Amino acid sequence: MKLKVVGFLSFLLFTMSFTVFAAETHRYFVHLKAENAEIRTQIANIIPIESVVEDSVYAFITKRDFLKVKQLFKNRIVEYHSIALPQIENRLRNIEEFPSGDEKFHTYQETIDELHKLNKENPSITKLISMGKSVEGRDILGIEISSSKRKTRNSILIMGTHHAREHLTTELTLMTAQYILGNSGKSERIRNLYDDTTIYIFPLINPDGATYDITGGSYHSWRKNRRNNGNGSYGVDLNRNYGHRWGTIGASSDPRSDTYMGTAAFSEPETRAVKEFVEQTGNISTILTMHTYSELILYPWGYTYDGVGGADQQVYETMANQMSKWNGYKAQQSSDLYRTAGDTCDWAYAEHNIFCFTFELSPKSFWDGGFYPGASAIVPTFNANIRPIVYAIENTNDPYAVLNQKLQAYNF
Ligand SMILES: [Zn+2]
Repeated sequence: MKLKVVGFLSFLLFTMSFTVFAAETHRYFVHLKAENAEIRTQIANIIPIESVVEDSVYAFITKRDFLKVKQLFKNRIVEYHSIALPQIENRLRNIEEFPSGDEKFHTYQETIDELHKLNKENPSITKLISMGKSVEGRDILGIEISSSKRKTRNSILIMGTHHAREHLTTELTLMTAQYILGNSGKSERIRNLYDDTTIYIFPLINPDGATYDITGGSYHSWRKNRRNNGNGSYGVDLNRNYGHRWGTIGASSDPRSDTYMGTAAFSEPETRAVKEFVEQTGNISTILTMHTYSELILYPWGYTYDGVGGADQQVYETMANQMSKWNGYKAQQSSDLYRTAGDTCDWAYAEHNIFCFTFELSPKSFWDGGFYPGASAIVPTFNANIRPIVYAIENTNDPYAVLNQKLQAYNF
């Protein structure tokens, strides 16, 4: 364990050299003992848990959150490390690009450019759609892929990067659009995806946070959006800001916290944009919302240990288990990890009966790179997840059909 920690710390120091959060001078890597979901929930009420491994949880937190941990969970601390963050150099403040070696990842502007390119190359089956604007006024842009072949159809919404530092999810969602459009001429199966259903892909729900995370050409481990909270702190946790049982558990009311829930449900333009898009579209039956990391497929509820029950429970379990066979991730109810309220899927299912899955992509742990696994993780992550994504699209018109389905071979 010790050697691994040293490796992790040198990774952090490497990725964080030269830049820093404006008001932050240190971050703390903590390892806490937490034997069950109830204890993990108590911890999740205070800090963002980033991974759960056996009877332990790990997090990388602000000094303020660390002081709370010391106060509330002193006996649970197995180890911690303080990481000093040097001040950002003024001359680098306007640089918005990935660190050297990670240039394959798409910045906000590169993501927008790629969506425009895909639309230009496929004008008859794609449309660019703006959900709305972020706190700092960036467009939340996505692409619709559909043909007019079938009139009665449902839609699927696939989203990336609610959390700023989870850049791998932007890549997976962009590559999914590229893959579908790139193979439409070669594969009837792929053509059927957009002939039968409407596919909406939004790679960057949190463009401000994602941009801030790479300011100066290095990583800042930023999670939230860039709301100015008015007390010197920035950011609301977008995946705690949705409106089902908002603020009741697993989220913080402290604006400085990484899991700050905001001043009200849907207080943020980014979550409001998703809400309004889902309401206006009207026929979305499936959502895949991509996060990193831990290699999990999660489904509601998040706020309670109870399952959703009935046939819907069977659909969730059948789909999650099937998808996990392809990507090798662990399928489980969200609250099996710890309880949280205000996430995308609890809201989507509670308010709109949408079958909504949260993917926590690769890697599996901190030691494999955590939020920053490097550009070499992009293609393997896409290869692991394209079958689950195609499966979800193919069952969008009638998710209940999975209950009576014989699995087909998936040859791509
Ligand atoms: Zn996330």
